[in-house]
Formats: sequence, C-alpha cells, structure tokens
Amino acid sequence: MKIAIDGPASSGKTSLGRHLATRYDCLFVDTGAMYRALALGVDRGLALDEIEIMLTEEGKIFLNGEDVTASLRSRRIDQLSSEMAIDPKVRRKLVRIQQQLAKERDVVMEGRDIGTVVLPDAEIKIFLTATPSERAQRRAREHGCLDIDAIANEIAVRDARDIDRSISPLKPAKDAITIVTNKKSLEEVALEAIDLIEKRIEHL
Ligand code: C5P
Repeated sequence: MKIAIDGPASSGKTSLGRHLATRYDCLFVDTGAMYRALALGVDRGLALDEIEIMLTEEGKIFLNGEDVTASLRSRRIDQLSSEMAIDPKVRRKLVRIQQQLAKERDVVMEGRDIGTVVLPDAEIKIFLTATPSERAQRRAREHGCLDIDAIANEIAVRDARDIDRSISPLKPAKDAITIVTNKKSLEEVALEAIDLIEKRIEHL
C-alpha cells in the first residue's frame, strides 16, 4: 500500500504521516527532510553529484554517511531547501530515491508532489491544508520564535515558490481527498484520514 500526503508547509503532514505509518506498518518517508539534507550539503559546499542522501527505518536522514537529522529544521534550511527545490536536477535526484523506496516497501510518503509526480498510482492520496496564520503559529511554536509576522512571511515565500514552479508544483492530485487541519488535534485529523483509508481499502 502507498499512502501519499501532500500539502504546504506546517499543514500537519509529518505528524499525520508518522501516525499512519505506525498504524499500517509502513515505512514513513518525509521527503521534505531529503530536500533539507540536500540543501545542507550544498550549504557546506558540496556539488550535487557529491551528495548522497539516505533514510533509515527510524526516520533518520544521513548526508554522505553522517546523521544530520538534528540539523535540518532551522529557518536557514527552511529557506535554502525551498530555493533548491525549484531545480529540476535536484528534484530528479530525490524523486528517483523516493520511487525506489516505494518499490521496496509499503510507504506513507509526505511532501509536495507525492500524489502528482512521485507516486501517481498511490492507493490513498491526502492533501492537507490549514490557513496561513494557523500554519505560521505552528511553525513559530516549533522554532520557539515570537515574531509570528516574520515566520508568516517566510512561509508565504516558500508557498509561492512551491506553487509557482514549473516542475512539480504544489497542487492536490485529481484523486486526492483534502483535509483542512485548522484547529484540529492530530487525533481528529488521523480519524478523518483513517476513515478515508478504511473505505478505500474496502474497494481495492
Ligand atoms: O516539508 P518541508 O518544509 O520539510 O520541505 C522543505 C522544502 O522542500 C519545502 O519548502 C519545499 O519547497 C521542498 N519540498 C518539495 N517537494 C517535496 C518535499 C519538499 O519541493 N516533495
């Protein structure tokens, strides 16, 4: 089974993805973390073809053999990964790894282009959204940052890059179900998603 979760920054994809992966015994693949690790590599002066990204069962991300999981969530990497993600060479490199992972295992994979480009044949496609202000508040909490306006601006810039790029823009797949996560707990969002998955499984 392949479950694709797409949506803009801080819409709740990672929390839902981890939850569903545990419940359905799938490998959880956070593709945003792969773009982040690649951006970290470029930031360290590596060329694209010198960069090797690996993901473990436990969700750790390795950059050329080094566990960089704890270094990926900074505001600098937020912006750098978003800039790198418009480069077709970057996307080709990471999409190849993502598709290979899904060949080997059942996956819950989250990102921006999973239902549309990476796994267009996924049995379940979910598109998560929340209002920009709710997403900014979540991100500010995650960064321990009080300047919500600055965070909201950064998210708006990243959203625009994701939506406007010519290759693999952020958009719901035609057969995706949209879940709005505003003011909902993880449990509430997960219940909606599980309901959808169980109904889909009955018809497979
Ligand atoms: O999801 P996350 O915020 O960690 O992703 C980091 C950046 O990587 C995003 O801003 C987005 O531009 C890019 N990305 C992407 N396609 C994906 C996953 C992430 O373009 N499948």
